Amino acid sequence: MKVARLARMAAMARNKLLCSSHLASMHISTPTSRQISMKTEGLTARLNSAGLLRTQGLIGGKWTDAYDGKTIQVLNPATGEVVADVPCMGGKETNDAISSAHDAFYSWSNLTCTERSKHLRTWYNLLISHKEELGQLITLEQGKPLKEAIGEVNYGASFIEFFAEEAKRVYGDIIPATLGDRRLLVLKQPVGVVGAITPWNFPLAMITRKVGPALACGCTVVIKPSELTPLTALAAAELALQAGIPPGVLNVVMGNAPDIGNALLASSQVRKITFTGSTAVGKKLMEGAAGTVKRVSLELGGNAPCIIFDDADLDVAVKGSLAAKFRNSGQTCVCANRLIVQEGIYDKFAEAFSKAVQNLQVGDGFSEGVVQGPLINESAVQKVESFVQDAISKGAKVLLGGKRHSLGMTFYEPTVIGDVKSEMILSREEVFGPVAPLMRFKTEEEAISIANNTNAGLAAYIFTNNIQRSWRVTEALEYGLVGVNEGLISTEVAPFGGVKQSGIGREGSKYGMDEYLELKYVCLGDMNRK
Ligand code: NAP
Repeated sequence: MKVARLARMAAMARNKLLCSSHLASMHISTPTSRQISMKTEGLTARLNSAGLLRTQGLIGGKWTDAYDGKTIQVLNPATGEVVADVPCMGGKETNDAISSAHDAFYSWSNLTCTERSKHLRTWYNLLISHKEELGQLITLEQGKPLKEAIGEVNYGASFIEFFAEEAKRVYGDIIPATLGDRRLLVLKQPVGVVGAITPWNFPLAMITRKVGPALACGCTVVIKPSELTPLTALAAAELALQAGIPPGVLNVVMGNAPDIGNALLASSQVRKITFTGSTAVGKKLMEGAAGTVKRVSLELGGNAPCIIFDDADLDVAVKGSLAAKFRNSGQTCVCANRLIVQEGIYDKFAEAFSKAVQNLQVGDGFSEGVVQGPLINESAVQKVESFVQDAISKGAKVLLGGKRHSLGMTFYEPTVIGDVKSEMILSREEVFGPVAPLMRFKTEEEAISIANNTNAGLAAYIFTNNIQRSWRVTEALEYGLVGVNEGLISTEVAPFGGVKQSGIGREGSKYGMDEYLELKYVCLGDMNRK
């Protein structure tokens, strides 16, 4: 048993090395060696019958292997087992995907808004009718509990539905002219081919939040999902084909991230890069986009403060901060990273919150009742361990958890750490794991200052029953999203995005369309002639 587990851990470490450092000598296997773990045979059969088990890239409507036959393994983070092999693509495949997207652009952008809207609506219906299978696929490759994974499918599909409707509302403007013989207009037109690079923590929703508005506006797309979670992206692409979205409008390549990224950046046919992921990679892409002066949208890392004032309703604050912290085992960019608690309520909150955290059931996301799955891989666990050790060595106190879960491997105990100070890494960097650091404050000014003392500016949360304070603090927080007495605030109808080093641009809502549209000013002259 121990030997098998060690072998799986070695496979996970090897895969991380092969895929994440993108070494030239990658693991090579032939397409016939593709496999799905035995435990998930029932799922395999269901996915196959729906045509959703796709293990090749999609270029110009054709399912395609890497040109040199190289593959990478997709692992189940809960067990370390190999789920499937997918192609390890690079620059050549990406250039072909860009050409396909470029070729498809003219006809796709010239469809009427109603036609594009109908395609998106059909895709939405297919995503929803396959939500069970897609949810299982997410749990299999990403690890989150099945109920949460199906929730992601609903959330991810909601962007396709929303933008199917917005496709019909790309209104231009007529501007009052300053000269009598002129008429001034503004047209909105699609930016062109879009390169969309997405992370592993929401394998579906981070894609649909970009592709929905891009397609609605008339853009075509080359998607690069994370090497860790490509299967959901491929299944979604298959459903897009089934929905009648023409070949080339949506392409998927995966594998060697820097090579794929560089090909997207270098191409003058790609007019926009939209990225969700770490701030470090976002900065590289922004720099690389300068070469061809591409537009960029960046959804980057956060360091969300969650401020609990003395006058908060304790139950609401515990429930809200629990949701804000522990969703996806703490692996979301909007996860509360610092619980900043006023001294009058600190002890009561710490006790009630720790009690609630203790009840979170940890395990394989397919098991009944589990609400905390594994972390994405072992290096994620090691990062959490090092942050916790740093805090302990500087005087923080473990109130709950504080170590690997007895399930081992990728599982970490839901943890609460008290007396965290601003010099500890836990309060400065995104922990991206199930660890809630509690910090103490005295005054409202101090809370705002602690909250804003970071380069990140994505999400923030406040718990208070004082309406004036809620408004005052909301205005003072340097963040793109603020939840007041609520820990789960993302929705397709509201703008999502960060300030400072958390990013540029907004996704979701009517504002999400602007990211994929160019304005064209048109001046009609000689308009008084009869
Ligand atoms: P990451 O390492 O930056 O990876 C994100 C994507 O970029 C992956 O597809 C990755 O490919 C790719 N990539 C890596 N290096 C690249 C390069 N040189 N050129 C082009 N692409 C490259 O981030 P992650 O670890 O997957 O995701 C976690 C981060 O995402 C966290 O910081 C989180 O806060 C952030 N995030 C932000 C939002 C938001 O909306 N603001 C939402 C979710 C997550 P491979 O995986 O194949 O290497």
